Amino acid sequence: MHEPLGDAVVRPLRVAIVGSGPSGFYAAESLFRHKGLHVRIDVFDRLPTPYGLVRYGVAPDHQKMKAVIRVYEQTASNPAFRFFGNVQLGRDVSVEDLRRHYDQIVYAFGSETDRKLGVPGEDLEGVHGATEFVAWYNGHPDYRDLAFDFSAERAAIFGVGNVAMDVARVLLRSPDELAGTDIAGYALDALRRSRVREIYLVGRRGAAQAAFSPKEIEEVGSIAGVDLIVDSRDLDLDESDVALMEHDTNVRKNVEYLRSVAPSTEPTSRKARLRFLASPVEVQGENGRVTGVKVERNRLVRGEDGASWAEGTGETEILPVGLVFRAIGYRGIPLPGVPFDERRGIVSNREGRVTDPVSGELQPREYVVGWAKRGPTGLIGTNRGCSADTVARMLEDRAAISREAEPADIVDLLRERGVSWVSFDAWRMLDRLELERGASLGKVRDKITALAEMLSAIEANRD
Ligand code: NAP
Repeated sequence: MHEPLGDAVVRPLRVAIVGSGPSGFYAAESLFRHKGLHVRIDVFDRLPTPYGLVRYGVAPDHQKMKAVIRVYEQTASNPAFRFFGNVQLGRDVSVEDLRRHYDQIVYAFGSETDRKLGVPGEDLEGVHGATEFVAWYNGHPDYRDLAFDFSAERAAIFGVGNVAMDVARVLLRSPDELAGTDIAGYALDALRRSRVREIYLVGRRGAAQAAFSPKEIEEVGSIAGVDLIVDSRDLDLDESDVALMEHDTNVRKNVEYLRSVAPSTEPTSRKARLRFLASPVEVQGENGRVTGVKVERNRLVRGEDGASWAEGTGETEILPVGLVFRAIGYRGIPLPGVPFDERRGIVSNREGRVTDPVSGELQPREYVVGWAKRGPTGLIGTNRGCSADTVARMLEDRAAISREAEPADIVDLLRERGVSWVSFDAWRMLDRLELERGASLGKVRDKITALAEMLSAIEANRD
């Protein structure tokens, strides 16, 4: 099938998408939806499994959020779509290879690591990035072998965004509530032995600046057997915060909810203590393991533009915790050959067109979407518009691409190099297997978490 472009009849546009999370799938969807565009799309992922953070980020007690996978399956059912799982950029194929085999490349590889607190003691045992905890309980092959010690009764989570809320729920919920979900089996076993009973949720700014959404904080407050404790002093808002509440529905709902929280009248076995205007200044430990965190009380300083930031007051206290999570945001890591803005942790770009991080010059035919483009913000659906914006730039630029010669099929290169990729049909088989295993255990899905096991299951079931 050829697309008429002016008078010329040209071959289909060939697009490679690196990363099969939401932003990658939305980019494919947006290209397929464009009327009159004939396009063939190959999506690469270093894992054998598609869907990125929907599979390995969304919390197991948020199964409804995973329903979005149906939309991605629809995209994948387009005959012009191919999936190449278990193919890693920089190991199996290079950016140069992609430049030779495709007209346009879209980077959709998200933000893989997390930001550091930057305080002494952060490297002690028992201090973890939320990213690794989330990937661990979700059965990510790279994180399944991590060990978390839940023998302490008290833990602290720094950062009060939605990731912090996910971590808090998984730590505080009764394991029986998680048993029927797709949580990794080893994680559920470890959580059944957990002695964690009390969690500090620590925000550096005030309640009106909390990054969690109303639904997420209310969910923490409604976990059976958990008392959410808010210090009423944190809810004495100044004029600027009151004005903020009037203009921002989320702020208003958050503050109203926190004001409505009353101590539980029933006996509770676990507590979530919200602490605002506090920053960690030192993680303390004994014998290499965390025993507490020194936090400093902050005051809020405001700029003329309405921005606000936290400033230490010098008043400190020790939170007596044996487990610490930092949930202060994800951070992108560079991939070989992909222009990267180290400071912002994203692929350097202008409106989704990749640029050289130093000269700012455009890198022709290369694009970026999702968290790799704008940083780790927004909900899953935010990526739809973000990817569509980048696709609009790709469509503007495509006229300049010569589409006379037919580029070689990447399949030949992969075969030549002995790369054994996982197709979408092979993934579908793995998907069925996980669902069947789950059904026999009374879970929505029992994930296969070891890479070798995934690949041998695929091999064993190949037609
Ligand atoms: P986030 O929403 O950006 O929140 C980060 C939190 O860390 C903020 O409270 C921030 O405070 C704080 N922080 C940043 N640097 C800090 C530092 N140096 N010291 C102390 N605190 C610091 O990030 P996230 O929670 O990782 O979530 C990422 C995105 O995924 C968000 O858009 C989120 O909504 C989304 N998400 C959604 C869900 C859901 O819908 N259920 C679940 C998970 C994630 P400041 O505000 O002061 O910077």
